[in-house]
Amino acid sequence: MTLVPFDDRDGWIWWNGSLVPWRDARLHVLSHGLHYASAVFEGERAYRGHIFRLRDHTDRLIASGRWLGFDIPWSAEEIDAASAAVLAANGLTDGYVRPIAWRGSETLGVSPAGTGVQLAIAAWAWPSYYGADRMQGIRLAEAVWKRPSPETAPTAAKCTSLYTIGTLSKQRAEAEGCSDALMLDWRGRVAETTGANVFFVIDNALHTPTPDGFLDGITRRTVMALARQNQMTVIERPMDPGEIAGASEVFLAGTAAEVTAVREIGPHRFTPGRITETLMRGYDALTACPPAEVARNLG
Ligand code: PMP
Repeated sequence: MTLVPFDDRDGWIWWNGSLVPWRDARLHVLSHGLHYASAVFEGERAYRGHIFRLRDHTDRLIASGRWLGFDIPWSAEEIDAASAAVLAANGLTDGYVRPIAWRGSETLGVSPAGTGVQLAIAAWAWPSYYGADRMQGIRLAEAVWKRPSPETAPTAAKCTSLYTIGTLSKQRAEAEGCSDALMLDWRGRVAETTGANVFFVIDNALHTPTPDGFLDGITRRTVMALARQNQMTVIERPMDPGEIAGASEVFLAGTAAEVTAVREIGPHRFTPGRITETLMRGYDALTACPPAEVARNLG
């Protein structure tokens, strides 16, 4: 596969209010966002021309900015419209959408005072994150790095600074031949992977860690609603890594990952099964629906 660098592609990027040719969407090297990680972003997927749960992503983007002490100078309606415009301008009906907001280059010190807030939105074709067969099951390494406490970092924000931990964990996992890493939190409890939330089937019920130090994913909440509609018992609670061995099925949920089965976490083995498959199919069916139907289905 030939890698096409992200700065050298055809297409359009929404850049502070207008669509610009892809290669022209550049920022200055002395940008606050680059030096001090004052940036927040979203990862969204479009299916059949609609961005799945777009307003939820846009609301989280705005909320993430507020966690970092800034207001994105565009309304949710304007950001939604811009996201749809980027998708259309790039001739995509299915793909990934990436809005990012960052502090600019007006001043450059730890203090953000005086910086303006920039917003860009890109979209590209992006098939399955972990490969086409999401039931096959991926291998997860056990991460060395831990998710920080909400007293250490704004853990509810999707901010770039927190992805340092993910990048380090993913790099190590890939060096070990795994697709991703399962991270624990500062207390040593099960948290999430570098880009998705995690679910365990234990005694036929669905267990997932309480999101008190990591992203309460939009896919996570969608899957929990689907599970309840399927009369499954869903238990959100603190989870100890010692419980992993007792799971019969494990899967991930995230916008990029969608629902993806896990077959290995460190020394533990799992066989992707009926519950994972039911929720995967349910999620796929829901993402194929127009937004009004998605909203109706999720109540
Ligand atoms: N955790 C992390 C670290 C993520 O990057 C993501 C993807 N945004 C998720 C969880 C899942 O969130 P969502 O379902 O909203 O995409």
